[in-house]
Amino acid sequence: MARNRCVKAIKVRSTRNFSRSGRWKQHRSQVTKDCRFESLNTGRNDERHFAPFVKNATMDFRILRFAAGMFAALCLFNPAAALNAAAADSSEPPAPIESLSIGGAAINVEIEAGDLSLSRTQVLAWIRRSACAVTEYYGGFPVRKVDVKIVPIDEGKGVLFGRTVLLDQTLVIRVGLSRFATESSLRDDWVMTHEMVHLAFPSVPDDHHWIEEGIATYVEPIARAQIGDLPPETVWRELVDGLPKGLPAAGDGGLDRTHTWGRTYWGGALFCLMADVEIHQRTNNRYGLQDALRGILGAGGNMEHDWPLTRALKAGDDATGVPVLMELYDRMKATPITPDLPALWHQLGIRPSGNSVVFDQGAPLASVVRSIMAKRSDPGSACVPVAHPGSTANSMSVLEIEDAF
Ligand SMILES: [Zn+2]
Repeated sequence: MARNRCVKAIKVRSTRNFSRSGRWKQHRSQVTKDCRFESLNTGRNDERHFAPFVKNATMDFRILRFAAGMFAALCLFNPAAALNAAAADSSEPPAPIESLSIGGAAINVEIEAGDLSLSRTQVLAWIRRSACAVTEYYGGFPVRKVDVKIVPIDEGKGVLFGRTVLLDQTLVIRVGLSRFATESSLRDDWVMTHEMVHLAFPSVPDDHHWIEEGIATYVEPIARAQIGDLPPETVWRELVDGLPKGLPAAGDGGLDRTHTWGRTYWGGALFCLMADVEIHQRTNNRYGLQDALRGILGAGGNMEHDWPLTRALKAGDDATGVPVLMELYDRMKATPITPDLPALWHQLGIRPSGNSVVFDQGAPLASVVRSIMAKRSDPGSACVPVAHPGSTANSMSVLEIEDAF
């Protein structure tokens, strides 16, 4: 058992990654007192069992031998312990911090001590790609400054976990990377983008945690698709496969009252899709959820600030001119709403086919899908990855967008 003691209040959003198709994600929370972390026998099918002494701030220790490395990711308030837990060689000199300037933000990257198969250039290119996706979606990076810390882990494959923390006004994204991770692990990764999306919404009370994870779950693949980092078919295939996990089960009390993993992540994503489609329909595709979320950010709603949820939703509605977010929230907050997803896919022209989907452009709402996926920025005004595999930081053309917030 590992334990530590919080010395300050922190806000946390965390993610445990196993694979794209089997996302395992966890909670943001506020930890204000004793914050021990134990080896939890949770596992992906048992995500609801959190340690009682850590309010929504545990991580998945399904593979117990990861515990030391995982604990390292949690110990932001104790960097020395974190490094030791990650089996780092304390004799190594401190890693230099590299500042990436993307979307109006300074993204300060530190690769902590430890072994990685990937080069520093590859790691930086991955972080840059993720930042570019978020910049494209929001029209600028959501905050002016964030620290990104990469924690090498001597186990596992690929990207192992992510955690976004506000600690004393400093935003820190901490991501665990297996020493065996490859370039293709980074190409397939969603965690870094997911964590960065968390920066783009205010902190809301715990009952509304579903909106924070729902937005991150829904926006991340679309943002990556908008910069050409993910095929549109993959975005929709994942929604087809994932959203049924967000439907209410028997006894559900609505999104604000049902804090299961499925309702938090995929239930929140379901809210986002329903809102996105309805905004497009009611504005004849002039606006979508992307505009609402940009509006919330433009009103100052990023993770540095605590807002009531309704303040954020109203700001989003103000940006689109239609009160879709508030109306949908009123419908779904305390009532189990079960939309007919197959009928929705049919209307949108999303036809599941094998492991992918086919887009039926003759469907009644096919234009909504095209509008949701459309890249917003003018050529050259956002981060544009060069379209060839194996690109590195040097092969990615990045132009800084003036931060409009
Ligand atoms: Zn998350």
